[in-house]
Amino acid sequence: MKLSVIGTGYVGLVTGTCFAETGNQVICADINEEKVKRMQAGEIPIYEPGLETIFHRNIKQGNLIFTTDLKYAVDNSDIIFLALPTPPSEDGSADLKHVLEVAEQLGKIITSYKIIIDKSTVPVGTAEKVQELIAKNCVCDFDVVSNPEFLREGMAVEDFMKPERVVIGTESEKAQEILNRLYAPFVRQGNPIIFMDERSAELTKYAANSFLATKITFMNEIANLCEILGADVDMVRKGIGSDSRIGKRFLFPGVGYGGSCFPKDVKALNIMANQSVYDFKILKSVMEVNEAQWMVIIDKIISKFGNDLSDKKFAVWGLAFKPNTDDIREAPALYIINALLQLGVTISAFDPEAMLNVKKEIGDKIQYGENQYAILENADALIIITEWSVFRSPDFEMMKKGLKNNIIFDGRNLFELEEMEKQGFYYASVGRRVVSSEF
Ligand code: NAD
Repeated sequence: MKLSVIGTGYVGLVTGTCFAETGNQVICADINEEKVKRMQAGEIPIYEPGLETIFHRNIKQGNLIFTTDLKYAVDNSDIIFLALPTPPSEDGSADLKHVLEVAEQLGKIITSYKIIIDKSTVPVGTAEKVQELIAKNCVCDFDVVSNPEFLREGMAVEDFMKPERVVIGTESEKAQEILNRLYAPFVRQGNPIIFMDERSAELTKYAANSFLATKITFMNEIANLCEILGADVDMVRKGIGSDSRIGKRFLFPGVGYGGSCFPKDVKALNIMANQSVYDFKILKSVMEVNEAQWMVIIDKIISKFGNDLSDKKFAVWGLAFKPNTDDIREAPALYIINALLQLGVTISAFDPEAMLNVKKEIGDKIQYGENQYAILENADALIIITEWSVFRSPDFEMMKKGLKNNIIFDGRNLFELEEMEKQGFYYASVGRRVVSSEF
């Protein structure tokens, strides 16, 4: 099939590349000229495991091309995916500027039947708005479909190639039939394509992300309570996770959720509810608890070192909002680092993929290391914020050689308490007792 994907960010580039991989002709269009030039030159603009290989393969085979020319992309495709940003507006609602602008342009370009598919996360009723905007300028037949994306950054290719489900909101039989064929190679193992109306599809995405954010937040509160009551959150997690009604996933406590989706989608759903005069009480608590959770690790640092941290130097492992991505949007690391900088702390940090993006955002306010050990030199403590695999089995002897004090604040519970005891670290993690063998 002939497709175009408008917006080639984390979702658009993965969508375009994976559809090219199953034999479709894909044109990726983006407004960012520099990015398009880089992609035309064969340079991949984001880090996503497994993406680079299929990106190069499909460019070479001629299945995947890049352009800034929206008209060219639309004229040469029958199915048009919108993978445009929907960032939060000042009041927290999803900003539809990009989606609606492109919809308006599409109305002026389309001259034959097209399926326009919204992959962006958009408030309920957006498909209707897009439909109206296109119809304003266009007399030909078209269908607007809501097809929210559930991929996880860091696992995006795997998630896209083998989705647990595909949600498609449309009542058009023609669009249903075409999309069934388009997605067939991705659901060969029997995972469902769930057809529904556009509004339900739009809400499904917000409900999924808000539910997951709530699950994480609930566990963070349980972890905080464990610390007060002398329980161990790992035990509680295993105890409840083996109940199939609860499930084992998304039960790991930490420094609070971040990223480009959960914070903005929880906010947007809350606003959507408010605008419908519905008071969504849980969501308000989830947002409040999550923001407080970013600072829990700071409280632990202050309770160890005292209020005056101005002569302290801390090393930070992990900057990306989660492992296996270079994405730092709403990353807890940035909130924690900014709070520490305000307290006068000196920071040196290491992240396997996200340092370039952090440099663009905060420049030389912190130092960056070549590897996870180099930054430990003379540091008063190590703070672990992102659970990259490379941090899971470190050389503890090298760590002790670098660190001034053998002190670790672990926001991700990477290590066993007994091991930390044996190694002689002061080790404060999340929802577990503090190991303070020699301190
Ligand atoms: P992104 O910011 O990484 O990428 C958006 C791209 O759109 C950028 O390359 C930008 O240059 C381009 N763009 C902006 N305006 C444009 C225009 N007028 N014409 C052409 N291109 C334009 O965003 P993303 O993370 O890929 O997210 C896109 C949407 O998908 C959002 O609604 C997001 O909520 C949703 N989503 C994201 C994820 C994720 O993990 N990132 C997962 C599921 C859904």
